[in-house]
Amino acid sequence: MTEKIENKELRMKHYCEPCGAKCCYTGSPLYLPEERELVVAQHPDHFIEIRGNFVIPKPQGFCPYLNGDKLCTIQDQKGVDCLIYPLDPMYKRGFVELVIDMSCPAYDRITPEFVASAIVLGAEWIKKFSVESFDEYWDQFKRFNPDQFHLCLSDYLKNVRNKKFLRTVKRKLADKIRSAGKTLHSWNDNILLKEELADLLS
Ligand code: SF4
Ligand code: SF4
Repeated sequence: MTEKIENKELRMKHYCEPCGAKCCYTGSPLYLPEERELVVAQHPDHFIEIRGNFVIPKPQGFCPYLNGDKLCTIQDQKGVDCLIYPLDPMYKRGFVELVIDMSCPAYDRITPEFVASAIVLGAEWIKKFSVESFDEYWDQFKRFNPDQFHLCLSDYLKNVRNKKFLRTVKRKLADKIRSAGKTLHSWNDNILLKEELADLLS
């Protein structure tokens, strides 16, 4: 249920509209088995399996779930990896970090509300993958996208000129974690955000 509410918030990414679905032409999104099941219950199965998890390959140069109007046809079922783009959760030496794809034309227009939702949803999502299976996926992803430049979210937040932005991220994040009955500290004890990011958000 929480995820459904989060997903609705994240779908209000109005900054995506002028882009023409750039990110749906690159990479290969990673899905958990339960995320894939939601999709294939209502749509054709375009997934391939990697170590028990699933990716959507793009052999034609674009995602098979993209329609001719450059709209995602699985909007209501799409998984976290697609939902929180251009933020991308990953492991760094066993810790959770989020990175921003700087090739997204709207990377500097993401809102603090979006960042807070993406941190919670993305960090909880990546913890469901083992470090090994995620690393294997990431190696393949880099081969597909050798030129893609990612900036760590901690560096992004440090460089945001408007300090109110970071304060709002922190407040929204604390609200979300509190409404799940946790403190930021106890949440992070399970998630293990990379130290730099955890410090910035505490
Ligand atoms: S996340 Fe960025 S690259 Fe992807 S559709 Fe939105 S604006 Fe375009
Ligand atoms: S599933 Fe949808 S959002 Fe994700 S890459 Fe495909 S078309 Fe884009």
